[in-house]
Amino acid sequence: MTGKLEGRIAVVTGAARGQGEATARIFAEAGARVVLADVLEEDGRKAAGRIGDGAMFRKLDVSDEGSWNALLEATRTEWGTPDILINNAGIVHPVDALNLEKADFERVLGINLIGSWLGIKVLAPGMIEKGKGAIVNICSSSALIGMNGLTAYASSKWALRGLTKNVAMELGYRGVRVNAIFPGGINTPMGNITEEPAEELNKYYVGQTIQRIGEPEEVARTSLFLCSDDASYLAGAEIAVDGGQTLGPYTPFLPGAPNSVV
Ligand code: NAP
Repeated sequence: MTGKLEGRIAVVTGAARGQGEATARIFAEAGARVVLADVLEEDGRKAAGRIGDGAMFRKLDVSDEGSWNALLEATRTEWGTPDILINNAGIVHPVDALNLEKADFERVLGINLIGSWLGIKVLAPGMIEKGKGAIVNICSSSALIGMNGLTAYASSKWALRGLTKNVAMELGYRGVRVNAIFPGGINTPMGNITEEPAEELNKYYVGQTIQRIGEPEEVARTSLFLCSDDASYLAGAEIAVDGGQTLGPYTPFLPGAPNSVV
């Protein structure tokens, strides 16, 4: 059986670990050749090695335009023009608005927002030439609601959501579909800083709809859907992969309401 991404060339940023690594693996299993791009060189090379043939690592700082140009040139030399871009690299800076330093705010925006735009600016023209492409921007549930103490991060992800809508409009009629995913709490080095077992982490999610943390593969499979022909009519779509975290307070509205846990 041929995979859903057979013959495609994909670039996944932040792919040395976490959701990016899971996405690269699942895309390779679906038949794509995948460039794992990250600032973390050693982990990135190891991740590409674990996937095997169909995968290569390139060092990339998403906030640097020259770094993107070098990645495109290397990919073209090795395999050809990319058909898919997953803007997944991101950093979090857990500080509230009043204690946030300007330089830190700019650093977060430079990676999470400007870095994603640079990837689109450098890779989309090749997709337009091919007449077909798919781009997924990894936002966050913090771009659907507010998140206490995450001012720079949440602002960057709200802006990335806006970038998705605008670029989806600008590129859609030229064959490139741009969509966004909004992960909730996901069991990765970013989402599980203390490296607790998933069962422990699940306790933090009681009082939220699905009552557990998400796994990186659950986000990766959503990116696979969005980049495959199964999503051929999706442009500018927003998919929350958050177990219902952003649906609202999980409390009974009336006595006897169907809510057995809280
Ligand atoms: P992760 O485990 O921290 O992985 C992110 C990767 O991106 C790391 O290898 C990181 O390297 C790399 N990176 C950072 N800055 C970069 C840059 N300038 N250029 C290239 N690569 C860079 O995070 P994750 O949990 O897999 O998150 C992936 C995406 O999902 C992020 O955009 C994140 O904001 C979003 N997200 C995550 C969660 C969650 O709960 N995990 C929830 C919502 C949204 P360093 O270690 O050097 O930073």
